[in-house]
Amino acid sequence: MFRPKGPVCQSCGMPLSKDPLGGGTNADGSLSSEYCSHCYRKGVFTQPNITAQEMTALVEGKLRSMHFPRFLARRFAKEVPTLRRWRNKGATQDPARPSSGDLQPRA
Ligand SMILES: [Zn+2]
Repeated sequence: MFRPKGPVCQSCGMPLSKDPLGGGTNADGSLSSEYCSHCYRKGVFTQPNITAQEMTALVEGKLRSMHFPRFLARRFAKEVPTLRRWRNKGATQDPARPSSGDLQPRA
């Protein structure tokens, strides 16, 4: 399995070196060292309610659209739930701790 050099986004697994913006941004506008610009902007997740499973499917679909072979896309996507964003979450979708941004209320 190829291992990308350097840090990867702890939400979707993309190498931060591949991020056109160099990474996500914290609330104060500084670059995040943990998340990419697709996942994290101005200190909040762009998709706060997404689950690890949904992110896995999203990443796999994205890699497939980039013409990755299916087995590679799947293997890469399988790593998603092991990333830091997902690891401290249970199987349920309850946000363990609300971030500084406003979460969408879920009925
Ligand atoms: Zn990301």
